Amino acid sequence: MTNLRIGHGYDVHRLVEGRKLIIGGVDIPWEKGLLGHSDADVLVHAVMDALTGAARLGDIGKLFPDTDPAYAGISSIKLLAHVGKLLGEKGYAVVNIDCVLLAQAPKVGPYRAQMARNMAAALGIDTEQINVKATTEEGLGFTGDGSGMAAHAVVLLEKLNG
Ligand code: MG
Repeated sequence: MTNLRIGHGYDVHRLVEGRKLIIGGVDIPWEKGLLGHSDADVLVHAVMDALTGAARLGDIGKLFPDTDPAYAGISSIKLLAHVGKLLGEKGYAVVNIDCVLLAQAPKVGPYRAQMARNMAAALGIDTEQINVKATTEEGLGFTGDGSGMAAHAVVLLEKLNG
């Protein structure tokens, strides 16, 4: 049996006024922000769900219930660090992470490298192990009309010593 495990994560958050826009742990100047119990970092949430999926840890809703006041407004990068710790305890190492943000605006290209650095630091891995992409959906659907953002992530884990 192989020691490699793949995982996929998907997340959506609504864009509203009066919230900070935090994506990949970067505070991006914008007229709206993502709504959620935590900082609503849609990209990090997708990455965490991919990681928990690959490691059979369930999902982030189970790990960090949005009914728990402890997670109100919390930085999702902190939650990612916790997921990384759980992976280590189960004997998993990250091989690589690929993720894509679906957003009409703003342009996030200038922030992608920092997003990768933030997530790599939280997980204790190399920045080269993470790829961050972004795309619009050509004005279509809820990302296209600016009412929300979505993200997908795919990860590969390797089980060590076993
Ligand atoms: Mg979420």
